[in-house]
Amino acid sequence: MGKQLLLLSGDHLFLPQDLNKQETIILCAEVKEFYSDIPHHKKKLVLIFSALRHHAEMLRSQGWQVEYQKLTDDKLEQVIARLCQMHDIESMTVAEPGSYALKQMIAAWTDALALPLQLLENEDFLLSHQEFENWAQGRKLYRLEDFYRFMRKRTCYLMEGSRPSGGRWNYDKDNRNPAKTGMSFTKPPSFETDAITQAVIKDVEHHFPAHFGNLEGFDFAVTRKDAQKALAHFIDTQLPCFGATQDAMLQGEPVLNHSLLSPYLNVGLLAPKQVCDAAQQAYEAGTTPIEAVEGFIRQIIGWREYIRGLYWLLMPEYLNSNFFDTHRDLPEFYWTTETKMTCMREALTQTRDRAYAHHIQRLMTTGNFAMLYGVAPDQIHKWYLAVYADAHEWVELPNVIGMSQFADGGLLASKPYAASGAYINRMSDYCTSCAFDVSAKTGDNACPFNSLYWDFLHRNEDKLKDNMRMKFSFRNWYNFEEEKKENILRRAYELKNPHNL
Ligand code: FAD
Ligand code: SF4
Repeated sequence: MGKQLLLLSGDHLFLPQDLNKQETIILCAEVKEFYSDIPHHKKKLVLIFSALRHHAEMLRSQGWQVEYQKLTDDKLEQVIARLCQMHDIESMTVAEPGSYALKQMIAAWTDALALPLQLLENEDFLLSHQEFENWAQGRKLYRLEDFYRFMRKRTCYLMEGSRPSGGRWNYDKDNRNPAKTGMSFTKPPSFETDAITQAVIKDVEHHFPAHFGNLEGFDFAVTRKDAQKALAHFIDTQLPCFGATQDAMLQGEPVLNHSLLSPYLNVGLLAPKQVCDAAQQAYEAGTTPIEAVEGFIRQIIGWREYIRGLYWLLMPEYLNSNFFDTHRDLPEFYWTTETKMTCMREALTQTRDRAYAHHIQRLMTTGNFAMLYGVAPDQIHKWYLAVYADAHEWVELPNVIGMSQFADGGLLASKPYAASGAYINRMSDYCTSCAFDVSAKTGDNACPFNSLYWDFLHRNEDKLKDNMRMKFSFRNWYNFEEEKKENILRRAYELKNPHNL
């Protein structure tokens, strides 16, 4: 009797529970063409390939027949064709990949391979595609808060009957304090590299020498066991303060109380249910306050599921969104990290060194700057997809196009996350040691975020002035003297043509 071929890629470490071991050949393939069009961070590549190699070992130890193709220049079709010749393959099953383009490519194989093809939905999410579509049906705008309440009721996390635990759905107002010097944070756990990871490090250096990022000190978890240790560490030490420091930014503190769990969730080393169960238990045990647990669970059952649902709902048109019609090139310093702006340098150097920056750094420094500067959405999207260990298109694209660039015109966010230097100064300790003056709008040492912010409003007046949440900012702009406006716009023009930032 013929066998079925199950194809696994590094972004979906699928556990084949319902398949028959005797009738299934599992193919784990590291195909270079899928990782070469974008200069993915070397640490991200090591995480993906090492987790896949460990996953294959685990499957073998459980009695599965696994064929492993290490980094190859061959096309995936060639690898599959070889396997079909070696084994009597009569059908193929594919675990859902993390991008629309790859899913389309897989669908197109049906004809080319002349094999019946089954695409398995990723079970590492709480909601299926169909369930999300049902939620979205008939809505003009997709607001997170509506989705989040729907998910709270559906999952029963932090619920007492039909009412939210503690009496409120959302404790955001009690969270999000600015950074204070003297705060101390527990460092996330560091995992030693074993022989498998060391071999992957060599392979990545060899095959992707020009890719972005520093490979030194790779210490991500690459097995389920270690990812669980990272989760337990977060729940015990950082979760209690999670909400309070969620929006803070501090020099020399890349992680603060963030969980650093997204790289593991996104490849399937951790499941969202497992993560939320652990947070809920910490609340029930009385060790963690409601505002911290609610803030964290919202990120997982709210933001993560919502972003994933929107990606599959809105693709492929979403990829070409460009509401502000911007076309500027991404400044070179996003890659080199060489800039005099302390806030940007902090975010960029830790991105280069750790393949990680926390949410507010992504949103309010690097994302905010790109939007104010008028970078083409496609260019900033490709940068984000390359540089973070957790970046897979289904999660990166809506966060960049919708949330940080407002390039979808407000499908996802109710207003652009645009801010001047004052916001960064309030939430961080960056400005005290910056070459630029955060309180100045004009002049050679004025904080670039200031003039670029007003220039952004001015350029997009027609598109934004009727947005209720932007009225206050526009009123301030209209109240400036003409001469002041001209000086601000001149400074913004100089910064963009080209300037020593
Ligand atoms: P924590 O702050 O500890 O949050 C807990 C978890 O909640 C995260 O691990 C993540 O799984 C989930 N989460 C929180 N916010 C979001 C969100 N907006 N979307 C989806 N999940 C969320 N996240 C990615 O996983 N991959 C990306 O490529 C990515 N790109 C982003 C780009 C931009 C411009 C912005 C503004 C955000 C992006 N995010 C992305 C969302 C968020 O910044 C990261 O999930 C988070 O910083 C990961 O770090 P953490 O695990 O320490 O998160
Ligand atoms: Fe960033 Fe401006 Fe503050 Fe410098 S002064 S750190 S550029 S916000």
